[in-house]
Amino acid sequence: MTDHLAVFFDSCVFDHDTGEGFFEAKPSPHLPIIEMHPENGDRVRNMHGILKQGPIAGALDWYQGEIASRSDLERFHTVAYIDELASIPVTETRRFSGTTVFGPGSYDICCRAAGQAISAANHVFAANNRIAYALVRPPGHHAQPGMADGYCFFNNIGVALETLRAQGLRRAAVIDWDVHHGNGTQEGFYQDPDILTVSLHMNHGAWGSTHPQTGDVDETGSAKGLGKNLNLPMPFGAGDAAYARVFDQVIAPMVREHHPEVLFIAAGQDANQFDPNGRQLLSMTGFYELGKRARALADECCDGKLVLVQEGGYAISYAAYCLHATLEGVLNRAPSLPDPLAYMTDTTDELDQFIERMKKMHAIASER
Ligand SMILES: [Zn+2]
Repeated sequence: MTDHLAVFFDSCVFDHDTGEGFFEAKPSPHLPIIEMHPENGDRVRNMHGILKQGPIAGALDWYQGEIASRSDLERFHTVAYIDELASIPVTETRRFSGTTVFGPGSYDICCRAAGQAISAANHVFAANNRIAYALVRPPGHHAQPGMADGYCFFNNIGVALETLRAQGLRRAAVIDWDVHHGNGTQEGFYQDPDILTVSLHMNHGAWGSTHPQTGDVDETGSAKGLGKNLNLPMPFGAGDAAYARVFDQVIAPMVREHHPEVLFIAAGQDANQFDPNGRQLLSMTGFYELGKRARALADECCDGKLVLVQEGGYAISYAAYCLHATLEGVLNRAPSLPDPLAYMTDTTDELDQFIERMKKMHAIASER
């Protein structure tokens, strides 16, 4: 059992500039305060900070990974799509959809983000280590072979996984617990019998022309890949217990049956209870439990070979805490950071006490 985790990171990822607005829409003429786009550098600055300064800092080994090459990208993405991104002048900002913004210099940054995922995967598979995590942005799981979507341009996990296949990997599984449907990863491996793709997400359905996939349970794969795509569209507000139960009762059995050689996790934290983009109400405890389960499943199925790649998570401070909790679970450590916002996670005891107090106060008021 390893008690160290390799983290792959390139500080250039801070510089991907998605601009400002009313959340992700254009600035409102009616409002004096302009916000940053939710997928901004500060969210990853806090993730980087908590890993460098938090309780697990001593268990992390930091590496600057490679830059994805053209041939790396072409294993997952179409030539025409890569050409389209590469041809955008470095000084230009291009909006691919209402929400998906490619800023000045973003091509190089996206190649570096994909490169961190490749290096993390190589660390685990080729160099015969166990667990690695790529701290990257922009996220990747909505990026399809020929299309950008949902803040994503290159599918970091898809590119990394294909790099391993070029070196002899036969079977892998991807578990995506970002709160949104991992439609890009689904699309890339939809007909592939060797790659099991699992997405656990809130039931948001299809969105616009860049996200025609519904994320519903009937998208199960096609051709030889039939049965190798599992969508778990969870009801809004699902919470910690529901995520843990679905992992144990639905995801883990399917992964076991697939016999992967490496387990990839699309590790977003936007299922957290304070996320502006999510409605699933997970706490740090929920993320800790997911991390612990991912590690146990990798230990059981694929000799502990586990690659986590950062996806969404937009509550700038709380997502960082949830990442720390996730990696503590992955490291099989006891949770060490108290939840700074734990007052929102009602336990049964707290609720019982609250109800008793309300009844008592009401009885006193009625007697007057
Ligand atoms: Zn997301």
